Amino acid sequence: MHLIEFFLHLLILMNLSKYVLNLFLFCIHMKKLILFFTLILYFSCSSDDLKDEEVICSDSELGVNCPDTDYIKNSASPYVLPWEIGKTFKVGQGNCTDGSHSFGQVQYAYDIDMPIGTNIVAMRSGVVVKVIESFRDLEIGTVGAINEANVIYIKHEDGTEAQYIHLTYNGALKNEGDNVNQGEIIALSGNTGKSTGPHLHFHVIEALNECEDTDPRENYTWYSCNSIPLTFKNTSEHCYGLLEKDVRSGGYTAQSY
Ligand SMILES: [Zn+2]
Repeated sequence: MHLIEFFLHLLILMNLSKYVLNLFLFCIHMKKLILFFTLILYFSCSSDDLKDEEVICSDSELGVNCPDTDYIKNSASPYVLPWEIGKTFKVGQGNCTDGSHSFGQVQYAYDIDMPIGTNIVAMRSGVVVKVIESFRDLEIGTVGAINEANVIYIKHEDGTEAQYIHLTYNGALKNEGDNVNQGEIIALSGNTGKSTGPHLHFHVIEALNECEDTDPRENYTWYSCNSIPLTFKNTSEHCYGLLEKDVRSGGYTAQSY
C-alpha cells in the first residue's frame, strides 16, 4: 500500500516538474518572441522617424517659421549667439517672414531687439572683411537708407560670411583684416540704415564665389547671395531656428559653451 502511494506521489511530482519545465521553456520562447518583434519595430521605424525626431523639440511646438528648412541640430552648430554669455534678448523678426526677411540674402536673417551700444560678439571665428561705421544713429521714429547702415562682416574658414548690420556710430571694434575668435566682442549695436528701432540684424551668407557682392553702388549689396539657416550651440533647443518674441516671449539667453 505504501509503495503504491509512493509511486503515485512520484508520478504527481514528475508531472508537476514537467509542467514547471514547460512553463520555463514557454517563458524563454516568449522572451525571444518579444525581442524579435522589438527588433522588427526598431528597424521599421528608425529610418523615417529619426528625421522627425530630430526636428521636434519643445521650442518648435510654439511655432515654426520655415517648416521646409533643415536646420542643424543646435548642439552640433558651429555658431554661438552674437551676444554675451548670460544676456537675454528677444527676436523682433525671425526667418522666412513676409516682412523684410522673405528670400535670398535675408531669408534666414534675424533681427534682435537690443539697446544701442550692446556688445556684439563673433558667432564664429574668422577674418574681418568689411567695416563701415561712419553713419549716425537714427532718431526714434525715423527710418534711414539701406546704404547708410554701419556694418562688420566676418568671413569664416569655410568661406561663409557673417554680416552684422545697423551698428552704432563708430561701433566696429575691429578693423578689416583682423582675426577674431568666436565669442570675442567685435562691435556695438545701434540704429543705423534701414532700421525702425535699435536692433541687430545679422545673417550668414553661403560660400559661393558667384554670389560675391558686385554691386557698383557704394555700400549697396546685391541680394544675389543666399543666406543659410542658423542655429546656435549655446542656447535652449530651437529646431526651426530662433522664434519671434510674439511666440517666445522670454527670448534667448546666451549660455556658456
Ligand atoms: Zn533684419
